[in-house]
Amino acid sequence: MHADPAVEVTGLVKRYGDKTAVDGLDLAIARGTVTAVLGPNGAGKTTTIETCEGYRRPDAGAVRVLGLDPVAQAGQLKPRIGVMLQSGGVYAGARALEMLHHTAKLYANPLPVGPLAERLGLDSCGRTPYRRLSGGQQQRLALAMAVVGRPELVFLDEPTAGLDPQARRATWELVTELRAAGVTVVLTTHQMDEAEQLADDVAIIDRGRVIAQGSPDLLRGSDAQLRFDGPAGLDLAGLRKVLPDAAAVAEPAPGSYRVEAALDAALLAAVTGWCAEVGVMPDKLAVQRRSLEDVFLDLTGRELR
Ligand code: ATP
Repeated sequence: MHADPAVEVTGLVKRYGDKTAVDGLDLAIARGTVTAVLGPNGAGKTTTIETCEGYRRPDAGAVRVLGLDPVAQAGQLKPRIGVMLQSGGVYAGARALEMLHHTAKLYANPLPVGPLAERLGLDSCGRTPYRRLSGGQQQRLALAMAVVGRPELVFLDEPTAGLDPQARRATWELVTELRAAGVTVVLTTHQMDEAEQLADDVAIIDRGRVIAQGSPDLLRGSDAQLRFDGPAGLDLAGLRKVLPDAAAVAEPAPGSYRVEAALDAALLAAVTGWCAEVGVMPDKLAVQRRSLEDVFLDLTGRELR
């Protein structure tokens, strides 16, 4: 694998008038990985990605994509990257397949257009003008246009927003295949399951900065909640004695027990061992780790922006 990152953003600042959309953002994306960029509405995700794509100039800081400056070296960079925008950049009267053929011609070694259109379900609407495509069809066309040039790096802005389950699945499969082929994928999404399913690495952006980055597993941490039912009023002080100090034990409703702690096999053994000792069969024993959504809400708050 390449030592230098596919994308390297350092101290990026981007303002719109007196609004600071990106506020000293640092981000490194390794080659050959899928990175999901998450963040509340207005956090600065699209602005950051569009700066990486060369559509916006930084007010301060530096951006390098495949080692190149996306604005000054756009001519060298554009043939090596694929870009899926949320909207726009498309002539409304052009027909879907014509546009895909046209985009393919801009690249030296494009994918065959027919099979790509077929797998994204674009063959049936290939002669439809862009403005008459449904929202989901426009999305799929934008995705096809982003990947048809066999790019080394693709930026996908909310690739599955508003797609039906079949198209969402087809998009996930395509992203998984791109990754297997060594392509670097950077995607923004509001769907935590999408990030969890696809991403090697997740970057959470809030108020124009990266506030957390790591694999979904790392971000979710090892803390878990263990639940079981039993007779009401068990001796929780006794249970606490067999658990690590940091564990929290509670009976939120009579006969319903919760243990919050770093989860490992020893913790499970301690809880079930204690149950055996006091002669209780733990009913509905379940272990639940924090989800990526829990982590996201804990880090970025629960209020609307
Ligand atoms: P979303 O999840 O809603 O797509 P985002 O994280 O992609 O949000 P950005 O689109 O980067 O956020 O916007 C960051 C901030 O910059 C927002 O407050 C937005 O209102 C503002 N902004 C974005 N584009 C412009 C623009 N062209 N002119 C003025 N303000 C803008």
